[in-house]
Amino acid sequence: MFPNRKFPLFRFSTSYRFFSNSSCRTQRTLKKSIYFSGISLHNGKQVNLSIHPSTHVNNSTGILFQTPNGMIPASYENVSSTNFCTTLCGFKTSNEAGSLSNIYFVHTVEHLLAAFYICNIQNAIVEIDGEELPILDGSSQPYCDAFEGNVAPIQNNKALKTLKILKPIKVQSGDSHATFFPNNVENENDNTNNNISSRGGSSGTLSISVDVDFEPFSLPRDQIEVNDLEFLKEISSARTFTFEHVISKLKEDGLIKGGSMENAIVYDKNGIPLNKEPLRFENEFSRHKILDCIGDLSLLGNDRKSIDKIDGRYVVYKPGHTINNKMVNKLMKILEEEEQELIENRSVVIV
Ligand SMILES: [Zn+2]
Repeated sequence: MFPNRKFPLFRFSTSYRFFSNSSCRTQRTLKKSIYFSGISLHNGKQVNLSIHPSTHVNNSTGILFQTPNGMIPASYENVSSTNFCTTLCGFKTSNEAGSLSNIYFVHTVEHLLAAFYICNIQNAIVEIDGEELPILDGSSQPYCDAFEGNVAPIQNNKALKTLKILKPIKVQSGDSHATFFPNNVENENDNTNNNISSRGGSSGTLSISVDVDFEPFSLPRDQIEVNDLEFLKEISSARTFTFEHVISKLKEDGLIKGGSMENAIVYDKNGIPLNKEPLRFENEFSRHKILDCIGDLSLLGNDRKSIDKIDGRYVVYKPGHTINNKMVNKLMKILEEEEQELIENRSVVIV
């Protein structure tokens, strides 16, 4: 299935249907509640998930996870782990001194968050009766399908806020590295040696360019760049994946207890998929990496500063939740420092 070669860099440039930035200038939520149930990937438990419209009249709520133990806003500030999935946590204080008690979690939020970003939904109440979202088919497609035709502006017509990248911003994590470039400029040499040629993206859009290098696992190195106008068509259905020879170790570590051929692509040591269902794309694994990037980047912003969209080009070698989270933290730190110090020659700005 996978010849031992690099795929050519694949780029999409045509616009796609109605989920474009230009057609959605105000914050949106769902028209009616939707329901899912299924097994969660890592803890292997059956969970029920309800996604409700945000009905708050005066303010937008953002995306809120309502767990059995309390509410957790979808924000980078609440990320507690990026190991194999993105985990958010909340806590209750036990006394007036504010000492912590009862820390609670929601694991594997990235595919639902990606679906919200892709479908331009900024406000929803996500109610779950467990600690991890159901994995469904391993992609964001079931969510995106349920959102289609089920989206409405929020009541106060709050305008979308976009984080605009004005200067290249770099992070490194182990052997992963990433740069966020501004759009509409010829990107400077980013020293990544990943053979992704430099170019400017289209103004007002988020482009994600991944260089996926699984050489020890016999998958070909693959590079792909996709613009947000194409996320729904080209990225939302890409499933998560793993490798046959690491499954027993992951299970020993208490992970992927709910993993199956129905919710993940399993590659053998030669890079051949073992699932009955054919691959949805030849390079589905790279596309899934972009899906994870979308979900993780959507955690930009907090209750004091809402960020709904990103205007920039994210270029990442060996993408993963940890480097994505590191980039989000750096962007927010720079944004807050520049706003506090009233710096004129900005690296990032909210527009
Ligand atoms: Zn994923």
